[in-house]
Amino acid sequence: MPELPEVETTCRGLADVLVGRRLLNITLRRKGMRIPFPPGLTSSMVGCTVSEITRYAKYICVHLDNGYSALAHLGMSGRMVITNSQVQPGIHDHVVFDSENDVRIMFNDPRRFGLLTITKTAAIGNHKLLSHLGCDPLAYQFTPEFLSARLKNRKLSIKAALLDQKIVSGIGNIYACESLFRAGISPRRMAKSIGGNKVISLVSSIKEVLTEAIKAGGSSLRNYAQPSGELGYFSQNWQVYGREGLYCYCDKNGKRGIKVKRILQSGRSTFYCARCQK
Ligand SMILES: [Zn+2]
Repeated sequence: MPELPEVETTCRGLADVLVGRRLLNITLRRKGMRIPFPPGLTSSMVGCTVSEITRYAKYICVHLDNGYSALAHLGMSGRMVITNSQVQPGIHDHVVFDSENDVRIMFNDPRRFGLLTITKTAAIGNHKLLSHLGCDPLAYQFTPEFLSARLKNRKLSIKAALLDQKIVSGIGNIYACESLFRAGISPRRMAKSIGGNKVISLVSSIKEVLTEAIKAGGSSLRNYAQPSGELGYFSQNWQVYGREGLYCYCDKNGKRGIKVKRILQSGRSTFYCARCQK
């Protein structure tokens, strides 16, 4: 599943080829994905120039010079593929965007949990898909003060709180585990018990972990795109995520037998080290 860093990398990759370019044609190859494509989707975009591409949580926002913005979400399996008009779409390429300079973007999504819709740019924050979302973890508004106010009196684990989209939006399971490890905070701790230096350390860990992943993605995919033109999706070496039963890096040689554990919290796997995280 594309997480926030993959979405950010996708935005940057799309911006590289689309900003300042006019959209010449858009082909919808089905009636919708997770939600139906709205009427007027293509007519609101064709002929317009892309002025900017931004990310809000895990949404890709393609801003156009006519006051409209397209909103896309990659869902569980979506990806944007940069190619040219010689390449014909396949069965899972649901939307094809053709722009000036022979750039063709194909929105590929085998499982179709992704979506594409359009809204007025000025009202984007009020759009029903975005209005309920909490703060973006990389936004400057996401501060220790902000997070501690949201965690106050909350009777849920800190891990569950980090995945609550109304508190902070788009961290995702992998980066929630990695951020808690870096901050040395047990995922089982009650959200309301995280204050003072702990919350300062947690906020900076979240920002660092996400920023490093974006950087790693950008450098491992030259110009944010793999040779196939596929954006996003890069693997990283996690400290705890996916390392159940392996020795924690605090015990590299395994001399003390300290292993990464996996537990289930709100139906999601949490990976952590009971020695490093208190
Ligand atoms: Zn450890």
